[in-house]
Amino acid sequence: MSAAHRVLVVGAGGLGSPLLRLLATSGVEHITVIDDDIVDESNLHRQTLYCDDDVGKSKIECAERVVRELSPGLSVRAVEGRFVPGTAMDLLSDHTMVVEGADNLATKFLVADAAGLAGIPAIQAGAVRWAGWAFCALPDSACLRCLFEDIPRGQIETCAEAGVVGPVVGVLGGLEAALAYRLLRGDRPAGELWHYDALKGALRKTFVRRRGDCPLCAGQIQDLRMERYTAACAA
Ligand SMILES: [Zn+2]
Repeated sequence: MSAAHRVLVVGAGGLGSPLLRLLATSGVEHITVIDDDIVDESNLHRQTLYCDDDVGKSKIECAERVVRELSPGLSVRAVEGRFVPGTAMDLLSDHTMVVEGADNLATKFLVADAAGLAGIPAIQAGAVRWAGWAFCALPDSACLRCLFEDIPRGQIETCAEAGVVGPVVGVLGGLEAALAYRLLRGDRPAGELWHYDALKGALRKTFVRRRGDCPLCAGQIQDLRMERYTAACAA
């Protein structure tokens, strides 16, 4: 494993929990993690970083503690707040990849755009109820906008609205970690899209190709203008 990697983890919830545990001991040089939420009792069945004693505490504080316990020598920075356009590029700078476990589509598109502009890999995932996906975009491969085109307005339920079954985010956070480990090894899981359906018992991999009219891949997106993301945040 390469020791020089500095990883930004966006979100310390259901996806971020298994992901952070696995990344903490992966041999990376540094982890920055950002989240703005408080641990709620209803989180505990799927957010495996936290226990009963953590209820009411800030997630970022608890996540940092667990990561430090797992890997005392690791450089860790815990940022309490949201991943927003105004600070996204600063947060991404001096990181070699971003792994996203946000619970809303606006943040997922913002992470994709920021990683595209920064020229670093983005590993992303999403899950609703019993199924979800994990995806790896490299600077020269398809991105999230090649996959989803644009933020769906009011059509797709998000994890935050519909809820998700604990083992589903466990599997998908693990798949994100597996993609990250492969990047650390020097592999290129470019455009790999993993679908997992717990009810069907199905895990399958497809490849996403670049769309000719993707605004991010075509270089039409040059900044992180707030209006690209706020409409979906409010939807
Ligand atoms: Zn694209």
